[in-house]
Amino acid sequence: MAREGFEQVLALHDRASGLRGFLGLHDTRQGPAFGGIRRLAYRDEKAALLDCLRLSKAMTEKCVLADLPAGGGKLVIMDREGLDLERAYRHVGRVVEQLGGRFYTGPDMGTGQRELGWVAAETRYATQPGDAGPGLLAESTAAGVFAGIRAALGQVFGSPRVAERTVVVQGLGQVGERLAALLIEGGAHVFGAEVDSERAQRVSAELGVELVPPGSEFRVPCDVFAPCAQGGILHDLSLEGLASRIVAGAANNVLARGIDGDRLHERGILYVPDVVICSGAVIRGAIFHLEGRRESLERIGERVGRTCERILQRAAEEDESPARVATREALERLGDSLDAPDSEPTPAAPR
Ligand code: NAD
Repeated sequence: MAREGFEQVLALHDRASGLRGFLGLHDTRQGPAFGGIRRLAYRDEKAALLDCLRLSKAMTEKCVLADLPAGGGKLVIMDREGLDLERAYRHVGRVVEQLGGRFYTGPDMGTGQRELGWVAAETRYATQPGDAGPGLLAESTAAGVFAGIRAALGQVFGSPRVAERTVVVQGLGQVGERLAALLIEGGAHVFGAEVDSERAQRVSAELGVELVPPGSEFRVPCDVFAPCAQGGILHDLSLEGLASRIVAGAANNVLARGIDGDRLHERGILYVPDVVICSGAVIRGAIFHLEGRRESLERIGERVGRTCERILQRAAEEDESPARVATREALERLGDSLDAPDSEPTPAAPR
């Protein structure tokens, strides 16, 4: 039960592949837990476990706020030299299969089509890559983030139009690139920061994104700062220089601590909670697995946009941080308390 913490947390060790990781099932009272597989070079087991717990709890909030009959889970793999990837992912697939449908898994950082293929070969409860699966997951997330940005613009400027607005996208990966494309198509001016310089150059040339050096993006004056890379990037230091009116992006657990949402609110920067704005992929994935159909990007955008509007409206009426309002609303819907291990910052792990 959420009140006590987590329903189940498994430590994964597999000698044959060198796998070490964790699987967290936060809450399955509304339905099976959904959550991707994250593979990162974590500092140590404590950092990996903390990330797993935070992410699985956030997935519960995400599913509840998105009105899905589903709960939250997450699987993290500690990446390191010598890890036998195929064996490790196949082992993970067998663990997921043993859970018998209590946990459905899919992509996350470090886990793409190739890795999902290995997992899906071992279990029915993983997103199949290619035509057999729900498809368009990053596109779904980008459609939701775009709708969330429009909702925030509507509240701050009185119009949701992105034309002539300036947006800084941090991370031009699967979601960031697609978000940049939607924004540019809508007439926005997009600045992009991307640590992979080859990728940065390609996206800039193809879409017309104006590149800024990674690390400098927080200080670029803009209407919207859209974090689409790692979590935990908004903290004491980065918040100080932040020069945007709105923070709205795809990154999960973007606030290092809950209190950072309050700081944004005090500074008059509108934060669209990650658990609401980046729910496009889980909406598409859960509908596919539970109802057997592929929801359109348009409907996903509308759905995420409506939820963002509602949360932002309520936060404005109650003069409170939208992050707090989102957590409270999730909690009200569960009729429960959502305890978070919030004493330590989200680890911004190296990739
Ligand atoms: P991705 O790995 O495809 O893209 C992330 C990009 O960010 C990469 O190109 C990477 O080089 C870049 N990057 C990493 N650190 C950076 C930094 N400090 N500054 C600038 N660039 C940096 O990942 P993605 O699938 O696009 O997901 C992006 C974020 O959104 C992640 O936090 C993910 O958990 C979250 N998210 C993704 C989805 C989805 O559908 N893919 C759904 C929900 C949430």
